[in-house]
Amino acid sequence: MIPLSRPDITEKEIHRVDEVLRSPYLSGGTALKEFEAKAARVAGTKYAVGVSSGTAALHLILLALGIGEGDEVITTPFSFVASANCILYVRAKPVFSDIDPKTLNLDPKGVQAKITPRTKAILVVHVFGFPAEMDEFRRIAAENGVLLIEDACEAIGAQWRARPAGGLGTMGAFAFYPNKQVTTGEGGMVVTDEEEYAEIVRSLSNQGRKPNDSWLTHERLGYNYRLDELSAALGCVQLDRLPEILAAREQVATWYQEELRGVPELDLPQHRLVPGVKPSWFLYVLRFSSRNLRDRVAAALTEKGIENKPYFPAIHLQPFYRRAFNYQGGEFPETERAAGICLALPFYNKLQREQICAVGSIIKKVVGSK
Ligand SMILES: *Cc1c(COP(=O)(O)O)cnc(C)c1O
Repeated sequence: MIPLSRPDITEKEIHRVDEVLRSPYLSGGTALKEFEAKAARVAGTKYAVGVSSGTAALHLILLALGIGEGDEVITTPFSFVASANCILYVRAKPVFSDIDPKTLNLDPKGVQAKITPRTKAILVVHVFGFPAEMDEFRRIAAENGVLLIEDACEAIGAQWRARPAGGLGTMGAFAFYPNKQVTTGEGGMVVTDEEEYAEIVRSLSNQGRKPNDSWLTHERLGYNYRLDELSAALGCVQLDRLPEILAAREQVATWYQEELRGVPELDLPQHRLVPGVKPSWFLYVLRFSSRNLRDRVAAALTEKGIENKPYFPAIHLQPFYRRAFNYQGGEFPETERAAGICLALPFYNKLQREQICAVGSIIKKVVGSK
């Protein structure tokens, strides 16, 4: 059995969490502050606020930016559902724009065409850890006077023209679910250069309290989206290990590329050869020449105990979005096509070369058998 993903936890993480467990502070202590400082350094931003999940981070970003009813936010339908749901949480309208089939990220040209007087923000996702065309999105946002939000939940440590993902827009989000490059169990982080936004996020995550305020004064309608000390301690060690983690994942990706290169029915993940652009490998996602082939390979892998998943199904065709917005299919052809031919293979730091060979030979056998 080869799982799709596996967290990479060493004795160092266990030791740090153990220390917290033996301390009197399980929430609101020093581990969170330390984790935030490290995350700000990774994103190259002045501020970072730890929260309970990546979804919570996105929700609070939209609230802090004052996005609400009547506003439109342009985003991708090819992503994890949270990047669109957060727009609905604040009663704004998600305006989907199709992807560039080469990068699987939002196509800047399409985004430009969707700008209206109601557009408040563009929410860009770095899908599978491959940075989106941030120069273009920054230009479009600036020229149209709209905000730029980065869902960097899959892209911690990625670089766009030598600048870190997460710190390229007005505000950015990271996520630390166990399948992400860096995990805290559950957890997330908001990063920004704007002190005011950081303070609002901190307050909203903590029941609407002002910073340093007495425990029972609530300035605004807040949430309990705090990150506990155990998670933060785990995150501190994981972030210290980030270079090692990213290198291990790059090695695994390279082995896959070597194993699968040259198979005509396969499109391997290929990052843009732009100077200073570096992915942070989140998943290893293959594209097949047809949906039928993808499904046959998926079935063959599953039968051999090798986990796999058709990342991502299109968000606009999820049952809830179909019902709420009456999407029928056909609205975003590139996204729908990608959703039909993508398959995520097992991918984690400790995946062995022999395991990758085993996965590769099953794939090649199915592909070759027609
Ligand atoms: C993982 C992920 C999130 C949400 O993270 P959670 O911590 O699971 O809430 C948001 N957006 C994208 C693109 C993700 O991959």
